[in-house]
Amino acid sequence: MPKDVYTLADLRDWPAATGGETPAVRLAVFGDPVAHSRSPQMHNAALQSCGIAAAYGRLHIPHEELAEALRLLPDRDFIGANITIPHKAAAMALMHEVDPKARRAGGVNTVVVEGRKLIGFSTDGPGLVRAIRDVFGVDLRDLRVMVLGAGGGAGRAIAVQCAIEGCERLVLVNRTFERAQSLAAELAPSFRETRVTGPMMRLEAAPWEDAAFARQLPHIDHIIKATPLGMASAGPEFRRVSPISASLLRPHHLVYDTVYTQGRTPLLLAATAAGARGSDGLSMLLHQGALSFEIWFGRTAPLEVMREALKGA
Ligand code: NAP
Repeated sequence: MPKDVYTLADLRDWPAATGGETPAVRLAVFGDPVAHSRSPQMHNAALQSCGIAAAYGRLHIPHEELAEALRLLPDRDFIGANITIPHKAAAMALMHEVDPKARRAGGVNTVVVEGRKLIGFSTDGPGLVRAIRDVFGVDLRDLRVMVLGAGGGAGRAIAVQCAIEGCERLVLVNRTFERAQSLAAELAPSFRETRVTGPMMRLEAAPWEDAAFARQLPHIDHIIKATPLGMASAGPEFRRVSPISASLLRPHHLVYDTVYTQGRTPLLLAATAAGARGSDGLSMLLHQGALSFEIWFGRTAPLEVMREALKGA
């Protein structure tokens, strides 16, 4: 029986750990925590439906084990991997080559094994664009966007994508404010062109506090949360709090929470209470996963098969 979660010790002694299972595990998601990840269900359904003889597993890899675990992939006949919380930036430094878009996004979430080389890509930003179109029927470029968690790997990839898309307005919020400020400085050249955005600046970093939310939110259409708050498996302190209270949200807000480990995070409950539309992060998982599949196999991903597998997971 394949294990739910493999470890570095398993990867070191792969034949013993996998016991000659067929199809062999040749793709995996690396993370810490990782047990919650639904990527295996989604990708195994895709692999099966395309008749590809490979399986996709989970690897629980703490930070200090990341370099060795990635180094072992070519010898274990891996096709590639996904990288999730908290390793995306660290993994980028361990690649032999990095796609320029991933470098700009500041991290890799998709690894391709090519011979003995590891090549890193990022599908988070483009996956989010497709997800927003899928769930809300709108394009990121037409929206005034607030990113919560703009200092983390996903938040940065999303903010960079907003700059690439040329969204109407971008407000970067992060618990550690300096990270939002330095990202805003980096993205400033993409927001030089003036647009009619009312009294507010097109690009701003804002502190993580109610007064800043109250000032910004009337000039925002779309809130994207890219922190683990509300993610049950990340620990008790992450479960209960909505970063923005319902009283500050309005019915026109489109609220996207990248967390997908439970149906309604506190932020999504607040959105519902305010009469706003909300979505969890499953659609982003789906679309970034479909883009990873296309990078590994050079063919269109079976999107509906993957969507159904996620629903059932
Ligand atoms: P990361 O690089 O570790 O970044 C974590 C971010 O969350 C940072 O901005 C951090 O702020 C912030 N944060 C952490 N704890 C916080 C708290 N208690 N209060 C306020 N902010 C807090 O992680 P990541 O890879 O970006 O992932 C972030 C989340 O996005 C995860 O929950 C992940 O599941 C989700 N995600 C979902 C998808 C999807 O496909 N749906 C894809 C990627 C990521 P500081 O800078 O102040 O530490």
